[in-house]
Amino acid sequence: MNVIEYIKRSFFTRKCVICDEVIDYKRQKAICDDCSSLWLDHLDILCEKCGYDIDYCTCTPSTLSRKNKPPIISCVFYKPNVNSPVNYIVYKLKREYLLEVIDFCAQVMKEKTIMHCKRLNIDYRNNFIVTYPPRRKSGKIKYGYDHTKLLAKAYAKKMGMKVVSCFTNIGRSEQKTLTKHERVINAANSYRINDVDIQGKNVFLIDDVITSGATVKVCMQLLKTAGAKMIIPVTYAKDTK
Ligand SMILES: [Zn+2]
Ligand SMILES: [Zn+2]
Repeated sequence: MNVIEYIKRSFFTRKCVICDEVIDYKRQKAICDDCSSLWLDHLDILCEKCGYDIDYCTCTPSTLSRKNKPPIISCVFYKPNVNSPVNYIVYKLKREYLLEVIDFCAQVMKEKTIMHCKRLNIDYRNNFIVTYPPRRKSGKIKYGYDHTKLLAKAYAKKMGMKVVSCFTNIGRSEQKTLTKHERVINAANSYRINDVDIQGKNVFLIDDVITSGATVKVCMQLLKTAGAKMIIPVTYAKDTK
């Protein structure tokens, strides 16, 4: 190993965000090969409700209205409280500011978006903007960043789109600790629409995980009121419970 190689290795050593295994610095990856294949195994998991895989499951949380259920684009199924690479990525996304993790999620979200849009005959290049439900102020202070904002930015860059900051988070309680009913009420009181011009725009609404659908529901209502045309939620993971 020559000196330059040695220096590069010492400074740019990457560790797999899941298992801490050292990854070759030349490879811009967030997870090692072993964890990658474990992650890919999750794509074979079938929905407990409909029996389809993530690409064909159209199950949406019951909080979203029956008559106006949007197609939700998700990359993997999410099961809370289990030890899986899927969950570990979510955990890291929320708690540690790691660009590789954000990039990893944004990349899979982009790939799924293009695939679904082709299948649903949606021209994703036509008049689309990207937005996101921002993190609560206390979360931003605690962890020092807003993971949904960073995710939306990385996703938009990959899609060649503009991010419009449509919401302000004025919520106090964390959704995670609440029941489904409480989540709906809490979410409704948590977001305010900003003074933005999105009249006639199509929107990709980016979030990390969709669970009760309460956040997506309130954000969609606010976007519609502001004149948005088509709104498609895009999330890294989806809980179909
Ligand atoms: Zn690993
Ligand atoms: Zn399903």
